[in-house]
Amino acid sequence: AVRTLSGRVAVVTGASSGIGEASAEHLAGLGARVVVLARRAERLDDLVARIEKNGGEALALAVDVTDAAAVQAAADRVAAQLGGADLLFNNAGVMLPAPVEELATDQWQRQIDLNITGLMNVIGAFTPQLVTAAGERGVADLVNTSSIAAQNIFPNFAVYSATKAYVTHLSRHLRAELGAKNVRVSALEPGIVGTELQSHVTDAGALEWLEGSKQAMEWLTPQDIAQTVGFLASLPPRVNLQQVTIMPTRQP
Ligand code: NDP
Repeated sequence: AVRTLSGRVAVVTGASSGIGEASAEHLAGLGARVVVLARRAERLDDLVARIEKNGGEALALAVDVTDAAAVQAAADRVAAQLGGADLLFNNAGVMLPAPVEELATDQWQRQIDLNITGLMNVIGAFTPQLVTAAGERGVADLVNTSSIAAQNIFPNFAVYSATKAYVTHLSRHLRAELGAKNVRVSALEPGIVGTELQSHVTDAGALEWLEGSKQAMEWLTPQDIAQTVGFLASLPPRVNLQQVTIMPTRQP
């Protein structure tokens, strides 16, 4: 691969599986030094070992992004050890669909805590580094993982979809705010990608819907999304893809 990201420092949240894991590997392959964040330390250590075996550089930080102080401590370490991040892939998220009448309030809260509050904790801790890097090098990237659920209506996905609408709308505002400082902001909106995301679903109706979808089409792979993250970050500094929708070809 052409090392379009050499010299860059990328922080990837939700890097212990799925989209984040594949993206960390891909960005490392493009030459970035990557910092991988998630809660499962062992998975992160395996990922770092794999990246290093392939000639890349990586640092694992086992962090719960819903813990603002822990995220700030992680950002301080990235500043001290790597001189700060210039690419943030803000990707950790959870999807727990259920009919609203079931009042699965603990699941509502988990989605809001991670997809909104966790995402904000990471933005708060790393934006100063992005702004500094953009000032010095002319460009930095903030890529937030939203979903097609931000735009489309899916019964039983109300809370998840609303958290993702938050992510997309927030990203557009931050783009307007930070673009003046050469920080590009993008919202990624994938359709269905085969990852651990589906394994946390407990609602029978949603599980049936997912199974039907799996039979009807070939789902995207985490690597498909990773390619897009690498592409966004490799564009000339004047180019900012604001919102990117990535669908399985056969997903309606
Ligand atoms: P996975 O479940 O495979 O990955 C989720 C990641 O988030 C894991 O690495 C998990 O690691 C991490 N995570 C969960 N809770 C926390 C926490 N409190 N603190 C830090 N990290 C946490 O799913 P995907 O890769 O599919 O999901 C990535 C993003 O993509 C999510 O935002 C999801 O909403 C979005 N998305 C996914 C789609 C899909 O069809 N798969 C479609 C559209 C969007 P750990 O448990 O170790 O902390």
